[in-house]
Amino acid sequence: MSEIIIHDERFSRLIIGHAKLERLWTGGRWLEGPAYFPAGRYLVWSDIPNNRLMRFDETDGSVSVFREPSQNANGNTADRQGRLIACEHLTRRVTRTEFDGTVRVLADRFEGKRLNSPNDVVEKSDGSIWFSDPSYGIDGDYEGERAESEIGGSYVYRLDPSTGRVEAMIRDRVQPNGLAFSPDESILYVVDTGASHVPGLPVTIHAYPVETGGSLGAPSLFATCPDGFYDGFRVDVLGNIWTSAGRSVHCLAPDGTLIGEIRIGEIVGNLCFGGQKHNRLYICAQTSLYAYFINTRAAALFGPPQAAASRHG
Ligand code: MG
Repeated sequence: MSEIIIHDERFSRLIIGHAKLERLWTGGRWLEGPAYFPAGRYLVWSDIPNNRLMRFDETDGSVSVFREPSQNANGNTADRQGRLIACEHLTRRVTRTEFDGTVRVLADRFEGKRLNSPNDVVEKSDGSIWFSDPSYGIDGDYEGERAESEIGGSYVYRLDPSTGRVEAMIRDRVQPNGLAFSPDESILYVVDTGASHVPGLPVTIHAYPVETGGSLGAPSLFATCPDGFYDGFRVDVLGNIWTSAGRSVHCLAPDGTLIGEIRIGEIVGNLCFGGQKHNRLYICAQTSLYAYFINTRAAALFGPPQAAASRHG
């Protein structure tokens, strides 16, 4: 069975016919949150139930434990200075690992109440950090520690790391999860996995227009997952969305059409771009880390094109 499914000719131009899906490592319980660090050519990701961050060295293929305990970290990203930003379930906070190795808390509360369990995180070119805060890390003891939500809702927040200010930007999702900006940062895409708590609710990606000044406009439905769950995703330079979708990676064109799939065979949690040309997908799927070279690149590992950055001031 082919691991590549082409639904639309647009996908043919994005893949390499003889590329092979590689399983780089296995032995985790539930992998999430891959983040690529170009200067060091390594990938950090979460093994949430095992309470550890792992590290894959692209220069020799070795894998080691990067941090243990990880506070059941879930989503990770590298900021524009190459520092690790991590969403920690157990401690219900977003942290940054500084240049000297210390772990600094960037956010753990909203309006005086503890966050639920930060899940996924991206940095915008203006330095703001955007993260989702569903309840998965406090729903039970497997991926965190059972607790009641103090906030009473699951929101997407904008964090200003220079002031520590945390602002709720999205309050109309049930369980906001993966998130990413379009290449010019005019759209914020957000996954809603509320079906885990509300039977029958579709698993969706919604598109929120980013208005001048940084606020968000009314969302529109961008895509509905045909099988299983969307979770984490990233956007390539052409605006295509590469997302986890059940046991596959789905590629959605900028108009929301499902144009192709990569069948992984395990439940996919999240993915990111890496490699020296930013053309290698690193895929966290259930127990294993996979990689797959594609014929497109990350929108940008550290920000949008210059024109877009200046347009948004
Ligand atoms: Mg997630």
